[in-house]
Amino acid sequence: MEEIPVKVAVRLRPLLSREILHSHQVCVRVIPNTQQVVIGKDRVFTFDFIFGNKSSQDDVYTNCIKPLVVSLIEGYNATVFAYGQTGSGKTYTIGGGHVACVIDEEKGIIPHAIQELFQSISENPNIDFSVKVSYIEVYKEELRDLLELDTSIKDLHIREDEKGNTVIVGAKECQVESADELMSLLETGNAARHTGTTQMNEHSSRSHAIFTISIYQQRPKEPQKNSETVVDGLLGSVQMISSKFHFVDLAGSERVTKTGNTGERFKESIQINSGLLALGNVISALGDPKRKSAHIPYRDAKITRILKDSLGGNAKTVMIACISPSSSDFDESLNTLKYANRARNIKNKPIVNYNPDWDRMDEMELEIKALREALQNQRASVMAQASQVSQDWSLEKARIRSLEEQLAQLQLECFNYRNCVEEAFTFLIDLKDMVKMRRSQQLRLQDWLSMAEGLRMEMPPTPGIDSGIGNGREEPYHITILQLKRELKKCQVFVYVLLVRMFVTVLAKVGYVGCFTFFIEPAKT
Ligand code: ADP
Ligand code: MG
Repeated sequence: MEEIPVKVAVRLRPLLSREILHSHQVCVRVIPNTQQVVIGKDRVFTFDFIFGNKSSQDDVYTNCIKPLVVSLIEGYNATVFAYGQTGSGKTYTIGGGHVACVIDEEKGIIPHAIQELFQSISENPNIDFSVKVSYIEVYKEELRDLLELDTSIKDLHIREDEKGNTVIVGAKECQVESADELMSLLETGNAARHTGTTQMNEHSSRSHAIFTISIYQQRPKEPQKNSETVVDGLLGSVQMISSKFHFVDLAGSERVTKTGNTGERFKESIQINSGLLALGNVISALGDPKRKSAHIPYRDAKITRILKDSLGGNAKTVMIACISPSSSDFDESLNTLKYANRARNIKNKPIVNYNPDWDRMDEMELEIKALREALQNQRASVMAQASQVSQDWSLEKARIRSLEEQLAQLQLECFNYRNCVEEAFTFLIDLKDMVKMRRSQQLRLQDWLSMAEGLRMEMPPTPGIDSGIGNGREEPYHITILQLKRELKKCQVFVYVLLVRMFVTVLAKVGYVGCFTFFIEPAKT
């Protein structure tokens, strides 16, 4: 993660008319064409940006803040905070005054940033933007919602979300659709700020004010290189980015005694300074390389808790130190420059704030897609199997049908042959009684009778033509058919031999004995 330092700008305002009137001397000057400022005779300070008394609001915005607005749209958090004594030009620079009454050239950072943001939104129609705004002030170490004054102080809490980002729970967040809408909310909040009259400034801000623009973007996801499958899966998916810009107008940093305040105002000054003191301690702790691992006292004040991300955390931050050129403000201006100089050592770690939930959603969408495909494949394979099974079943059925037909045919044939055997047996019995035969013929006849007898005994009872048919089992058919085939073969052979021999015998009986004797004696050969 890249570390980038907090950038520090110094803005020197011109002498005010009353200061000129009172012949105030100038004690601060900018060294031309450098980033250096000299206070008093020879105290030189170098900063990232120096804006002299002739610098315009536009100069400040374009050089310091415009890059932050660009970063905001890229998805980085950004913060600009104005630091300095009361009357040094913080509110003027940030743009937290009566913006509606101010001419364009006098408009501060916030109105410029709002214009730029909505300009950018209109130039990127492929990005779905949502803009929200909140406006909080810290007054006497308590939070107030400048967009919803009815909100009780007790309902506003500074918390850290699960990603470690600081959030103000209970603060009203207004969704805005246009620059005008946003400007009118800024105006409403500014009017609600605590202002009072002090010896130093007619409308001195007695509180820290934090104007926050949050943007949420849904961008079409850019295809990733070197991963075709991921690219396929992410086509049409979006990337969610959320980022916020804090515009912080701090209360006056002057020493309590300087204001000449008493009573209630004195108490206010102490509390304002306790917040700034804590801010100073945070800046010192963060900026001191020897104290890097030491505890950073963010929790000492509300303002430091709110600015935790902006100082040493996930944000690009610019501090604008506002100083008065008047020699009567020498001490305060010197303090401000020292304070600002320390802030230059702070290193932040800004990152683009992708919303991981949306990435998770993308992942889940991919998972769902993969599961759907798997389910579809499974269905297809089950269907294929089912059609194979039904095909196999049809073949089986056809085979069973043909076996049944074969069986019926064989049963019929068997039945016929069995009848023949019966007939032959009866005929042989009759023949034995009726005809006188030689001893060898008698023996032969006896053999035939035994054979026929044996066959009759061996034959199983005739199965019904329908028995076992259509019961869906194939095995019994096989066995029955094999048995029948075997039986049939025996019967066929027997009946054939018997019939031929009987025919010969009968012929012999009627006088052709000589011709056919060899037929009746084959057993001897
Ligand atoms: P702060 O917020 O620090 O108390 P303000 O922003 O209210 O101070 O400024 C005090 C006065 O100085 C205001 O009248 C403001 O218009 C004027 N002022 C501040 N900065 C400039 C500047 N750069 N150019 C002209 N006038 C300025
Ligand atoms: Mg102010």
